[in-house]
Amino acid sequence: MLRRLEGGPGGCPNCGCEAAVRRGRVVRFGQKRQRWECDSCGRIYTAPVEEPEVIRIAKECYAVDYPILRCPQCESRRVPAYSTDRPIRYHRCAECGYRFKSIEKEVPA
Ligand SMILES: [Zn+2]
Ligand SMILES: [Zn+2]
Repeated sequence: MLRRLEGGPGGCPNCGCEAAVRRGRVVRFGQKRQRWECDSCGRIYTAPVEEPEVIRIAKECYAVDYPILRCPQCESRRVPAYSTDRPIRYHRCAECGYRFKSIEKEVPA
């Protein structure tokens, strides 16, 4: 029986062998990495997960629902966000100085 082996990019850092088996995923510094176990020497190493094109494009097109905001106090539209702490935006009305927040929403596809 042939076992299909895949290797991480670059192969094993220990012996250079490209045959490896998947050993789950880890997230390090916010980056997804695939764990590999070298089929030759058993060394565990990680390599960045390559995202399929579809996911990459979807991320680039990530949109937020950004409705026309009005100041709840004076109804002015001049309400620039001075801080963003996703999904919350903090606004301060340029007319009356009233502070309020809005929440970003994901637009359904
Ligand atoms: Zn190895
Ligand atoms: Zn206002």
